[in-house]
Amino acid sequence: MKNCPVCKQLLETAELGGRARLLCASCDFVHWDNPKPVTATLVPMDDGLVLVRRKYEPFTGYWCLPGGFIESAEHPAESAAREVFEETGLNIELNRLLEASAPGHGINVVILFYLAKPASGQLVAGDDASEVQVFHAGSLPPKIAFELHRQMIARYFASKGSLEL
Ligand SMILES: [Zn+2]
Repeated sequence: MKNCPVCKQLLETAELGGRARLLCASCDFVHWDNPKPVTATLVPMDDGLVLVRRKYEPFTGYWCLPGGFIESAEHPAESAAREVFEETGLNIELNRLLEASAPGHGINVVILFYLAKPASGQLVAGDDASEVQVFHAGSLPPKIAFELHRQMIARYFASKGSLEL
């Protein structure tokens, strides 16, 4: 962000609240740069995990957990269920929030990891997924996007599906 979205003035860097921030000298706008929340959901199925193949950048063609950005004013749990349905065709019952984490490395998101179980529907790739498939511990795809997804998938299989993550 270079210009103020309110008055179009060029933003300046200044310290505010102990951090360097982009702010506007002619109005009160501050670019807080807060992280965006996203969901990622573990859906166990047939003793494996449902993964989706990414249709779009970043990491096109890589696999990952189904999930995505939370819409405006959407409850995170509803968002998780919506994203799973859009990408996999499965209606899910959410089990619980497993963990909230942040990847660091300048990636400004907070990932909410949910655990779910499929309730109805059939595996059909949709939305920003080009494929959907159940993978097992010994036969995971070589390219899995996002370090935290890889870690969570590994932890899931290390727990042998006991869900004691
Ligand atoms: Zn301004």
